[in-house]
Amino acid sequence: MHPPSASEARPARSPVNHPSAALRLASASPQHLFPALPDKSTALLLAVLQQLEQSQWWAAERVREQQSAQLATLLEFVRDALPFYRQRLAEAGMTGTKAPVSASWERVPILTRQQLQANVQALKVRKPPPGHRQLGLAETSGSTGTPIRVATTETTRLLWNAFALRDHYWHRRDLGASLAAIRHFAAGVDAAYPQGLDLPDWGSPVNLLHASGPGMALDIHTDPRRQLEWLSRMNPAYLITFPSNAAALARTSLAEGVALPGLREVRLVSEAVDDELRAILQAAWGVPVVDTYSAQEAGSLALQCPEHAHYHVQSENVLLEVVDAQGRACGPGETGRVLVTTLHNFAMPLLRYEIGDYAEVGPPCPCGRGLPVLSRILGRVRNMLVLPNGEQRWPSLAATFYREVAPVVQHQLVQHDLHNLEARLVVERALSSEEEEGLRAMIVERLGHPFAIRFSYPASIERSPSGKYEEFVSKVQAVTDAPGQDPQ
Ligand SMILES: [Zn+2]
Repeated sequence: MHPPSASEARPARSPVNHPSAALRLASASPQHLFPALPDKSTALLLAVLQQLEQSQWWAAERVREQQSAQLATLLEFVRDALPFYRQRLAEAGMTGTKAPVSASWERVPILTRQQLQANVQALKVRKPPPGHRQLGLAETSGSTGTPIRVATTETTRLLWNAFALRDHYWHRRDLGASLAAIRHFAAGVDAAYPQGLDLPDWGSPVNLLHASGPGMALDIHTDPRRQLEWLSRMNPAYLITFPSNAAALARTSLAEGVALPGLREVRLVSEAVDDELRAILQAAWGVPVVDTYSAQEAGSLALQCPEHAHYHVQSENVLLEVVDAQGRACGPGETGRVLVTTLHNFAMPLLRYEIGDYAEVGPPCPCGRGLPVLSRILGRVRNMLVLPNGEQRWPSLAATFYREVAPVVQHQLVQHDLHNLEARLVVERALSSEEEEGLRAMIVERLGHPFAIRFSYPASIERSPSGKYEEFVSKVQAVTDAPGQDPQ
């Protein structure tokens, strides 16, 4: 008999024995109800989760070894399939088959967002291998207002689901409780105030494997006071929304003395979260705040540690590097640019892609997980739009819509007062007056109010001194502490 290793002694949190997450699988075979024989995609999801359950506890060195083997497989494929990368890898001296990923990796040129934008066709694989057929396009303006489209596949979707479930298991969510989502919904989904949208469960991917409690959803364009009224009425256990919206809700909650007694956790997605935001959410509701770091074009990048307020890189999904201005790898305590290599997208691989965020590298985590640590992530932030009647609204400016009308490389919208906005655009060439008119009409439509829009054309749009990129900036002081009062 040998003593149990650290990983064996640890309480397992896989779906099979997670206390509040018993499996409930649909059987794909009418002859087999118990045990159920799930369909292929569900079986694959379970198989991936089983491995993620183990790999999180591996030593950092073992994680790196396995990741390097995956990367070598990807590079071998990429050399054959995409001349664009073949040349870049050759420039770095990486020409051999199954070449070990070594120091020469750091010589592979960084793929900027503008290069990605300009080379979409050269980055797409003509004949992807089985399981990697292009399903759709992930669209995003990411953290720097540069619109991007990346092909998604069955495999990237599978992994997206697996890491979303890992986040639930890590944070031991009670899947039988209620979940409220306040976010942007596709056209045709009616999640308008006052009713919102009632859902039977937490939706995919949770409902692929588990029975779950009721879900409810509200359109994020609702004024925060109304959102708060809806939340009080619905009294959910979990809330998921965007950080800028959560901040507006928490401020309103504090100003109006509204408590949310049933709330157990706030989960944040899609924008940067800082200590100030965590503090205001804590003050308003006194519940844990859990952030996730993902990107439409690359999937899950980092999840918050279950035991600490920092993040673990999802090394099974991506190779994530943090590099300084000279391109050298940052060490613990240093902040640099985030580069992402997608390890499983064989329809449109991204190698050393500069995603537009900055992160601070952290020391190894005492929780025992060997996945690398990021202490902080600095990415996109946005303010709330303020309407002339004082209502606040989350400005939804879809990722790529500027570029549908004109060759816009980067964008930022600034609200100067209750009637006037400035669209700051970095462009490939001067825009025609028709293009400006087209953009003006689209912006006004998206904002839902006939603001006056003027255009300016800076050479570039810089981050704030703290490293944040502000996609939507409002210079109007919101009046959350004076309900009903017209700020004019
Ligand atoms: Zn940890």
